[in-house]
Amino acid sequence: MKLTSKDKNIELIEKIFKEGYLIRDEISDFEPRFSQLQMALSFYEKILQKENIIIEAGTGVGKSFAYLIPIGIALKENLYESAVISTHTKTLQKQLFDKDVKIIEKIVPGIRIEIAQGLENYLCLLKLKEEDIFSKEWMMNIIFDFLEKTKDGDLEGLEGKEVPRKVFSYKKEDCLKKECPYYMDCYVFKKIEKWKNCEILITNHSFLLSNSLVSFPYIKKDGILVIDEAQRIIEDAVNTYGTELKIDYLENTLFKEIVNKKFIKTKRDLLQKTYEEVKRFKEKLREFLNDNEKRKIEGDIFTEFKINEKLKKLSEEVKIPKGELEAKGKVFKEKLLDFSRKFEKIIFSQSEKYVKWVQREDDEIILKEAPLNPGDYLKEYLYPYFPVILYTSATIKTGKDFNFFIKEAGLNENIKGISLPSHFPYKKNVIIYIDKDAPSPKEEEKFAIYLSKKLPELIEIFSGRALVLFTSYKMLKDVKRNLKGIKTPLLFQGEDSRKNLLERFKKEKNTSLFATGTFWEGIDVPGEALELLIITRLPFDVPDEPYHEAKMNLLEKEGKNSFLNYSLPLAILRFKQGFGRLIRKKTDVGCFAILDSRIIKSSYGKYFLSSLPPAPITYDIISVKRFYENIKNI
Ligand code: SF4
Repeated sequence: MKLTSKDKNIELIEKIFKEGYLIRDEISDFEPRFSQLQMALSFYEKILQKENIIIEAGTGVGKSFAYLIPIGIALKENLYESAVISTHTKTLQKQLFDKDVKIIEKIVPGIRIEIAQGLENYLCLLKLKEEDIFSKEWMMNIIFDFLEKTKDGDLEGLEGKEVPRKVFSYKKEDCLKKECPYYMDCYVFKKIEKWKNCEILITNHSFLLSNSLVSFPYIKKDGILVIDEAQRIIEDAVNTYGTELKIDYLENTLFKEIVNKKFIKTKRDLLQKTYEEVKRFKEKLREFLNDNEKRKIEGDIFTEFKINEKLKKLSEEVKIPKGELEAKGKVFKEKLLDFSRKFEKIIFSQSEKYVKWVQREDDEIILKEAPLNPGDYLKEYLYPYFPVILYTSATIKTGKDFNFFIKEAGLNENIKGISLPSHFPYKKNVIIYIDKDAPSPKEEEKFAIYLSKKLPELIEIFSGRALVLFTSYKMLKDVKRNLKGIKTPLLFQGEDSRKNLLERFKKEKNTSLFATGTFWEGIDVPGEALELLIITRLPFDVPDEPYHEAKMNLLEKEGKNSFLNYSLPLAILRFKQGFGRLIRKKTDVGCFAILDSRIIKSSYGKYFLSSLPPAPITYDIISVKRFYENIKNI
């Protein structure tokens, strides 16, 4: 019987993942993994059928190779012309580009592969010219050095230098495009050309989604799309499909025009009045925020400010000069209109489908508006443009099914979803410790005192090597203040940058790291540096966080139980992400300590526990000590 190309390709996939053909040199500890082969075959089948699939693949499955190989085969067979791989984190994006994606070159030699981040990551030559670096010698040396080394204007080359990247980075609102005198040499547009002409583009969710809003000007559509770290596409859709207005940016734009008198020659009093009103508005927002980081905007509050109307009138007053300033004049006029539209949308629109709030970020005041059903946008702007989509991650399921993800990401409810287990020996290498006598974390003061006594006890057993995860920075600080008796080194979030803290945690022996927020996911600390992972509290969202509160209210209005349909699955996803930090390779061992007794005292606790891979559970700290002595052969 003659083999079809489909059969041959299935044989090839089997040979690769069973025998290590092509990939043995790329993976130092190659061994056949059943889940990896299953994932590659399932995805390849969907590529042939032009259908979408969700694949949850546990840590260590090697999911990037499991989707890259089928993509390589599909491109070689000319089934599709291009593929886009999107991630949430820069770390994974870089790992794919610097390492993993090279495997495709073995299948399709000469294939063009590019990495695309947000355009604000690249140098704008016009801004560089306008900054007049020649008058600042210290800055000039750094920039000249950067220009000599950079190939593509990626501002990452300024990392760690004293020059603020922001000053030179591309900004959509300021770009003169083809009318710019530097257009022919512009790093940004050279990059864009490459993105438009490559076969494989590695990008991130935000860039993918912002492209989707304007019919993909920089990304090839109609090919295969992989959404890795898929659970994060939901919050990236909330951010990208919403509206944001930076009040300081608006204020500075008006101030510059008052000083420079470039485009508004008449109605100077209107310009001055608008600027003063923006300043008053900003003050009002500060008062409104008080000590809060975020606060929801409701009803008619702030509608006394008619800044949108004034900005619109001002835009009509812009006189676009001929010559050198013409392009800038057009951009300035458009910017005023854009400010006006955003202000109107956030302050005046009243829709139950959106939530609006003010937030403080690095001392800047920002107005935000976000859709409560981001899935509706994904359905309209993203999914129809890619015939095959793979949604993958180590954490997508909440409970027994994918329903939460399907609902929130706006997927067709008939989509196939499979869950493939990790081959790590969790039963042997992990112990789960639950302190059932821990006080309720709702009694914050008592709980902080409890933690400051309990944490030293646990950390001493493991001689440090602990990652302690909090759900609030305030609690972390309260515990830090009362912590006594730990002899091994400690690191606390806030003392140094995230990157430096992680590097020190990995390098400096017996260190423990106390952290919150982004440390719950995406950090990779294999080996002895991390053998004790402590979760102080189940990671529920703060109930009065504006987005969370509005989403809960909306679900209740729809007659749904907001806790079971939103809070709980979201917390389970984070909990699984947190757990995933402990075992990063097959030989890793460790204890997962849960200090929130609601995990056994509440009716919902069982859902958290059943989301973990099978591992022995103990309530007794002596068993934890024995476990440690065993793994260390003491
Ligand atoms: S084209 Fe836009 S990004 Fe490029 S140098 Fe000019 S203003 Fe900057």
